[in-house]
Amino acid sequence: MPGAAEPLDELPLPPYVTAEDVGFAVRAIVVHAEESGRDGPVCRHDLFPYPCRLHRWGRAVLARRGLTDTEVAALVARHPGAES
Ligand SMILES: [Zn+2]
Repeated sequence: MPGAAEPLDELPLPPYVTAEDVGFAVRAIVVHAEESGRDGPVCRHDLFPYPCRLHRWGRAVLARRGLTDTEVAALVARHPGAES
């Protein structure tokens, strides 16, 4: 959707990140993956500039859970929807 503006406010994080939230977050990161667009990386799901709001939300949830980038990458790689 050219011209569509992404809301600037961030999605709220859960006050306490549960294992279920971690699952949602990993899924958000996998679904809202990076794809190359004409003007740079975009989200392959909604075509907003990458990382889109949901991707950032997923990363923030996992960071709050205390996962490192390496651990996040491992979770994302194991997710059934992940492309290698
Ligand atoms: Zn997205």
